[in-house]
Amino acid sequence: MANEANNFQELISHCKEYGYIFQSSEIYDGLAAVYDYGQNGAQLKKNIRDQWWKSMTQLHDNIVGIDAAIFMHPTTWKASGHVDHFSDPMIDNKDSNKRYRVDHLIEGFADEQLAVGNKQLAEDLLASMDALLAANDYAGIKNLIDNNKIKCTISKTCNWTEVREFNLMFSTQIGSITEDSDTIYLRPETAQGIFVNFLNVQKTGRMKIPFGIAQTGKAFRNEIVARQFIFRMREFEQMEMQFFVRPGTQMEWYNFWKAERKKWHESLGIPAEKIRYHDHVKLAHYADAALDIEFEFPFGWKELEGIHSRTDFDLKQHQEFSKKKIQYFDNDLNEDGKPFGNYTPYVVETSVGLDRLFLTIMSLAYTNETWTKEDGTQDSRVVLKIPAKIAPTKLAILPLLKKDGLPEIARELMNDCKPSFHCFYEEKDAIGKRYRRMDAIGTPFCVTIDHQTKEDNTVTIRYRDTMIQERISLSDVKRLVLEKIV
Ligand code: ATP
Repeated sequence: MANEANNFQELISHCKEYGYIFQSSEIYDGLAAVYDYGQNGAQLKKNIRDQWWKSMTQLHDNIVGIDAAIFMHPTTWKASGHVDHFSDPMIDNKDSNKRYRVDHLIEGFADEQLAVGNKQLAEDLLASMDALLAANDYAGIKNLIDNNKIKCTISKTCNWTEVREFNLMFSTQIGSITEDSDTIYLRPETAQGIFVNFLNVQKTGRMKIPFGIAQTGKAFRNEIVARQFIFRMREFEQMEMQFFVRPGTQMEWYNFWKAERKKWHESLGIPAEKIRYHDHVKLAHYADAALDIEFEFPFGWKELEGIHSRTDFDLKQHQEFSKKKIQYFDNDLNEDGKPFGNYTPYVVETSVGLDRLFLTIMSLAYTNETWTKEDGTQDSRVVLKIPAKIAPTKLAILPLLKKDGLPEIARELMNDCKPSFHCFYEEKDAIGKRYRRMDAIGTPFCVTIDHQTKEDNTVTIRYRDTMIQERISLSDVKRLVLEKIV
């Protein structure tokens, strides 16, 4: 456990040192739970997003993508239930004034119990918490915290307030800030931009049910407990897809997407044993079934993606609040040979956090290797084993020397490859050092141009994960890399 925690701290430092993630506004001491992606991070994030977008909108011919605005009419959030219900039960410690989400406080305590071998206590505690939260029994939750003498991590006391609810939406004013200006919200999820555009997309795209609308974009939540690096942020990015289906078929599609999404994560190189399903006990007000796809992060099993069967709740609410009819005419024939006719479609949603998926990829990729060399001495390296298809830079092109025409050959290769994939050119430092730098940013292939290249047009290609080097023809480099990154 301690080792995992150390590794996680090392990963965070590595992300900073190699241009993956920086604390937001770091020169002003940062802003809690807000992060910036650096030159390598932004590219990796884009590559993950592109994989998702392709898998949804290109590989499914009944899913289209949109890009809705972050700001939406304020009534949207009344209709969706966010104004009244988007809150978490919180508790404050009166001595430290620190506020906790009650589930996080109890889960943290359960993790501690697990670490010292009290497995049964941890499991009972989590089961009681689930049942009490499902029943909205906040007095019961307070008792659970009191009875187990759960302490504040800062004051180390059990001096708690009652459990209360806090809304997580950020608000601001649109237009000039006058008395009658409207309060608007920064969207806490991207889904509503899809629901309010349901008819626009269905009609202009002549979409036939079942069909999906996909979207990626920023979402904002005033998370009280902001912790675990980019796992829980106040500004983050979601990749969501709402799949519109005929009422009564939602469980079939729910099960379809449940399996499909797990498979997709595995296609990104996440091992099957590191992913599991967690069924929700307490269902959100809009759902008739819900589960999380969890990943085993360095700090334990946590939600990576949510799959929700959202019924017809959202479309019906928007119909009621907007007073516009939001229905679909289904001219397929039912068992009686009659068209299904008009109805409000049901929705199955898949919603994955791009930043959480980024953290998943990075925590799997980060490897600290030590080995004994042929001469008996020890060697080591830190390597990011990011799958080649999403690695920020695919190929490093390294002339062995800065002279003798080697840079010219290298530049020519660079010009040939760079329209097809991201390359990096470097001629400074010894070759071993350059390989290590490429390992640390996760570049899967390095090609070295040396004097032999001038004689026989061959180069050395080095594979990041195995460190194996082989001689191949210069003219084969581009094809080989292209084959490995699809
Ligand atoms: P959690 O229980 O961890 O707060 P949630 O159930 O509120 O998450 P959803 O509303 O289902 O999350 O959002 C869908 C996805 O968006 C989550 O699976 C997660 O990957 C991502 N996500 C949600 N909140 C955050 C956040 N604060 N920071 C980063 N990603 C987030």
